[in-house]
Amino acid sequence: MDRTSSRLAKLRESLSNDDVDGLLVLCETNVRYLTGFTGDASLLIVSDDRAVIVSDGRYTTQIAQECPGVECQIRQVGQVMNSALADVIGKLGLTRLGFESAVMSVANFEDVKQRLPAVTWIALSDRVEALRSVKDDDEIALVRASIAMAERAFAMLRAGLRLGDTEKDVADDLESFLRRCGASAASFPPIIAVGTRSALPHARPSREARIGDDDFVLVDWGASGTLAPYKSDLTRVLVTGKVTPKFETIYRTVLSAQERAIAAIRPGVMARDVDAEARSVIEEAGFGPFFQHGLGHGLGLDIHEAPALRKESDVTLQAGMVVTVEPGIYLPDWGGIRIEDDVLVTPDGCEVLTHVPRSLDSVRVG
Ligand code: ZN
Ligand code: ZN
Repeated sequence: MDRTSSRLAKLRESLSNDDVDGLLVLCETNVRYLTGFTGDASLLIVSDDRAVIVSDGRYTTQIAQECPGVECQIRQVGQVMNSALADVIGKLGLTRLGFESAVMSVANFEDVKQRLPAVTWIALSDRVEALRSVKDDDEIALVRASIAMAERAFAMLRAGLRLGDTEKDVADDLESFLRRCGASAASFPPIIAVGTRSALPHARPSREARIGDDDFVLVDWGASGTLAPYKSDLTRVLVTGKVTPKFETIYRTVLSAQERAIAAIRPGVMARDVDAEARSVIEEAGFGPFFQHGLGHGLGLDIHEAPALRKESDVTLQAGMVVTVEPGIYLPDWGGIRIEDDVLVTPDGCEVLTHVPRSLDSVRVG
């Protein structure tokens, strides 16, 4: 069975208890995952025995090339998407249709309902996302390749890091290194945060703050692949000044929280229990209130996808999931330390896919 057929078969199986006769897939990344189609502005209808992409004339050739086994309905010039969609749903005779409720806007839903008054709509969520959370070997290879690009780019950045460069300079350099290392782009705008600014977990690189203004700088970055946009996501803290006792205490706490969490990762473990492992280390060290985000997230075609590693997550880990493990401690007037690595759940445990050193000895630059 080819990749599209097997993914569609898994989706149909996951819909078998939902009392629907198909699913309307609206999320672009989900359409891509199921069919291989890399364009935009297109929808996919999956019924028990059919899969139809509804698109427009810009994509006729591309869909034929990228998705040979998938039917395609090209809407006419001037025909709005929902009109073409209504035609296809009518032709397929679907009457109870699931749709991706996290993606459909209220306005769009009102319009679709009006065009197809006889159809019963069932709000569904996370069906394709759940499939995407477990990667096959090809996808894992693409994540590894994305990590390799990110790691090469970081080595270049580290080698050339100069006191006096602004956060923005460094972020711009890093984006360019990522592309030179084979990435189509950064997987998200890199975070470069000097000293106290690193207390903002999602700091934006500034034109004023400079490397060396404080003792350390936090770098959070990743690559998006070229063959397919699989992502990587890492965080390291580099010390350009002194390793102070306070830095050392906090760094060691974050690192041991991360190590404890990674040691707990294996199939059958609840995602929230992995989060709890890291959190307990940070709480025992007295920094509990300063770790205010989840431990990590899945990554793949999207930088944040299922499964989430956080307190409320009721996902059970399965072999093939790829997650970040990124505990952090953020002290408002001092700064933040986060260490982030990408981890594959394997049949008998896990494999840390990222290799940039993270011991305290490795943080000094210059
Ligand atoms: Zn990150
Ligand atoms: Zn992350």
